[in-house]
Amino acid sequence: MEINQIKSFNTRMDSFIDKLLPELRDIYKDIHQNPELSLQEFRTAKIAADYLTKYQFEVTTEIGITGVVGVMKNGNGPTVMLRADMDALPVAEATGLPYQSTKIARDEDGVEVGVSHVCGHDLHVTWLMGAARLFSEHRDVWKSTLMAVFQPGEEVGRGAQGMIDDGMMERFPKPDIILGQHVMVGESGTVGYRSGAILSAGNSLKVKIFGRGSHGSQPQTSIDPVIMAAATTMRLQTIISREVAPVENAVLTIGALQAGTKENIIPDDATLKLNIRTFNDGVKDHILSAVKRICCAECAASNAPRDPEFTTLDSYPLTENDAKATAKVAEAFHVQFGDKAQETLPASASEDFSVFGRNWKVPYVFWFVGGTDPQTYLEAKKNNQINTIPSNHSTKFAPVIDPTLKTGLQAMMTAAAAWFN
Ligand code: ZN
Ligand code: ZN
Repeated sequence: MEINQIKSFNTRMDSFIDKLLPELRDIYKDIHQNPELSLQEFRTAKIAADYLTKYQFEVTTEIGITGVVGVMKNGNGPTVMLRADMDALPVAEATGLPYQSTKIARDEDGVEVGVSHVCGHDLHVTWLMGAARLFSEHRDVWKSTLMAVFQPGEEVGRGAQGMIDDGMMERFPKPDIILGQHVMVGESGTVGYRSGAILSAGNSLKVKIFGRGSHGSQPQTSIDPVIMAAATTMRLQTIISREVAPVENAVLTIGALQAGTKENIIPDDATLKLNIRTFNDGVKDHILSAVKRICCAECAASNAPRDPEFTTLDSYPLTENDAKATAKVAEAFHVQFGDKAQETLPASASEDFSVFGRNWKVPYVFWFVGGTDPQTYLEAKKNNQINTIPSNHSTKFAPVIDPTLKTGLQAMMTAAAAWFN
């Protein structure tokens, strides 16, 4: 649609959106109270699939375990894919909200964990359901093919690839554009877009270091993996500070460091778990090879009996928005939101959203929707305390429903409308 058409489309949708909001609030709270871990999103997928069926989409389920695709062919025009991820996190929610999750589930290792939507994917699902219904009910004002995709397993980095591996590209029309959004800390009512890298690449790995255990009173008979792990931990931080150019951004966090059981036993081995975030593939490759070099060298320095063992835990590609497509989305956002749509800085979070665009080799655009109560956010901003607002994955991450629900729905519909005929 042209800009003036988007304007009248938005005006026409506004009252329909308001009429739909009570239903969407109920759907949101229901999904929030019934979160499901990655690749176990059976109930959520059914809710989405039933809704798409009710509103006349051609629906396919169980793609890559729980993935759902709804296609609506509505005349000539580009194929627009809208994507929402469905999974929750193994986190016991502590928001204190009246609709707080109290669910418990078993993770992939069979361990019982609290489960909650502290990344906000419940909002993503609700937004896409709302957009699907409204586009279906107003088929007279747009022509194109709409593809609504509900993706599992984002939090484990395997959901999008799982759908691709299950024949997604052969079974459904190739999109001309792929659009997705994420609720983030930010003033509710605003959206943030960015051309180029908007989310970091994320790489996690486990490093197992081998020593030789012995009695704590006789260190001369040991090769102490605790010393090796400690030295490695410190030295790994020099990759970012000494090997990455100051104008590049990168993060390396060692979030787990495990060795031993008792104070007077030198253990046989130690394990480090690392998470790396980068905004440039060259930097990423350099850091990954530097991690291996330093781990091996520290082990050699201690005369370790063997090289460390490296296991990939997850790998998220860079989310790098297409410049031309982003400009089109941004223009439409400004029509809808005025100066409540703003260019944003990239975030050092990662997503597997780009897996679809990368495999299909089509442009994609991903943007942020603010979820923080405006007064709280502006107050924190004034006092330079934005970092104290509980962010995604915190036990206290609690986006406000209003106006976040409406803003995300408007953003998704406006961005899609920019492509429709
Ligand atoms: Zn997350
Ligand atoms: Zn997320």
